[in-house]
Amino acid sequence: MNLILMGLPGAGKGTQAEKIIEKYQIPHISTGDMFRSAIKEGTELGKQAKSFMDQGALVPDEVTIGIVRERLGKSDCQNGFLLDGFPRTIAQAEALEELLTELNAPIDYVLHVDVPQDKLLDRLTGRRICPECGATYHVIYNPPKVADTCDNDGARLIQREDDRRETVAKRIEVNVEQTQPLLDFYQTKGYLVTVNGDQDISDVFEAIDQKLQTL
Ligand code: ADP
Ligand code: ADP
Repeated sequence: MNLILMGLPGAGKGTQAEKIIEKYQIPHISTGDMFRSAIKEGTELGKQAKSFMDQGALVPDEVTIGIVRERLGKSDCQNGFLLDGFPRTIAQAEALEELLTELNAPIDYVLHVDVPQDKLLDRLTGRRICPECGATYHVIYNPPKVADTCDNDGARLIQREDDRRETVAKRIEVNVEQTQPLLDFYQTKGYLVTVNGDQDISDVFEAIDQKLQTL
């Protein structure tokens, strides 16, 4: 099962990804998570990515395509994968097509989690993540059982640097411009499936899962 999750920042991609990978046992490949862990580990990649991420800008295509190429080549991707946050530009989408042809792993679906733009600010500023396992929560819409504490491992939840109000608006703006051409690209190829992301987390998953069961 070769899947791509698309949607604006805060649409619920990471949240749905957690559910999809648990049920279908495919690796979750999130370029944002990969960059964040590179920053945490202080690697060269992390240094390259940090200045862009802190401003809510995209990391350059060469860097991003390079890490995805390396990741998709690993053996755990042989039975499928779930890409989240990639591609974000047409150049990335074209590079991905080439790479997947090489790997003989055509895309099954591009799942577009569709949420009205005016809902995103609240979702992003209320988002909290676990620095240990990456689980995603929301202070109101998806709170942990114990305030500020991860349900999985008890770690203290944090707010992402780029989820502060100053950078969030810029991130949404950059993404709106970039997302539409990608949706058009995948619509033309016949991969695009649009799911209503403006409903309860479990209902969004049910809509996605219904589609996946047809594979
Ligand atoms: P993305 O990966 O698309 O940026 P996330 O999955 O991190 O988005 O979700 C953004 C925030 O919105 C998180 O705090 C998450 O808990 C919350 N969220 C996700 N899906 C929903 C939903 N269907 N309804 C309300 N809040 C949601
Ligand atoms: P969100 O979906 O909430 O914006 P992500 O975790 O997907 O967050 O991405 C966080 C940041 O990582 C982006 O703002 C960008 O700087 C960088 N990034 C992630 N994926 C890509 C990509 N495919 N191309 C360029 N930059 C990326």
